[in-house]
Amino acid sequence: MGQTFGQVEVPEKIINKKEFAYIRNKIVPIYEANVNIMTQAFLFGTAIHEGLRGYFNSEEQQIYVFRMKEHYERMYKNGSILKMKGYKSPADLCEITKEVIKKNKFKSDCYIRAIMYKSGLQYSLMLADVNDFALFAVEQSGFNKSGNGVNMGVSSWRRIQDNSIPARAKVNGAYVNSCLAITEAVDNGFDDAIFLTDNGNVAEGSGMNIFLVKDKKVITSPNTDDILEGITRDTVITIVKDELGLDLEVRSIDRTELYMADEIFLCGTAAEVLNVASVDHREIGNNEHPITQSITKHYFDIVRGKNKKYLHWLEPIF
Ligand code: PMP
Repeated sequence: MGQTFGQVEVPEKIINKKEFAYIRNKIVPIYEANVNIMTQAFLFGTAIHEGLRGYFNSEEQQIYVFRMKEHYERMYKNGSILKMKGYKSPADLCEITKEVIKKNKFKSDCYIRAIMYKSGLQYSLMLADVNDFALFAVEQSGFNKSGNGVNMGVSSWRRIQDNSIPARAKVNGAYVNSCLAITEAVDNGFDDAIFLTDNGNVAEGSGMNIFLVKDKKVITSPNTDDILEGITRDTVITIVKDELGLDLEVRSIDRTELYMADEIFLCGTAAEVLNVASVDHREIGNNEHPITQSITKHYFDIVRGKNKKYLHWLEPIF
């Protein structure tokens, strides 16, 4: 059982761990990092977020956050969509992240959630002109549910369109779309959902980008098919081109191309690289997925600092 602080039920394990978070320009115990019920971001989802991963290196007793600069550059650019651009610079956000992780004294992998939000207390709809930045971090290793691969279902929910809520903006309120899709998928016995765009093209997963492999060619949906322009997607594209020397096609994908693919995998900061075993109960390829395996190995070598070519993507905390 947790305890109640203000209006918030805090799980016991968070209280016991005494993790620290950041809100209103201060580092505070996570259970004090609350927002007022009238906060616009709480009422309407007017916020953008980033999820980052820190990888612990036990020999160096160091945590490296993967592509931290790129995450906050994306947040900075996305901020313009909600009129928050310039509220804090990517350098400011990197500094805050380092401070919070240091304060938490983590000695293992961690997951970091950063939120730039409309902090004005208002229930009217005009975008509030007051912003805040909040962040929490928890010790967590990859939740690689892959094993033999995940079973995906094409969602009956369509991906949000750019002219409704832009998927590329990582707007908090837009994630209701993802919540509906993954819940439907799990209720129907799948592990997760694949979204189609309103035009019927394959967009992405509920919280990850998608790639398929056909005849040794690697294919992924374009930025203009209502996807989040993923940092892991960009990392995978680099692996495909520069490490494996394979052809990469960025183009719209039909639903039935999924069923006919030799391999499919998903990728994202939280999901890392996930092999897909089936889509809509159709086994993908012969379930030997050598290219996915090779990309996965390269990915973990890069994030763990074993491939020295990419050390510039690792941001040391301590
Ligand atoms: N698509 C969606 C909808 C996401 O929410 C995410 C991140 N959670 C991704 C793709 C992957 O993006 P990234 O690799 O930058 O984490």
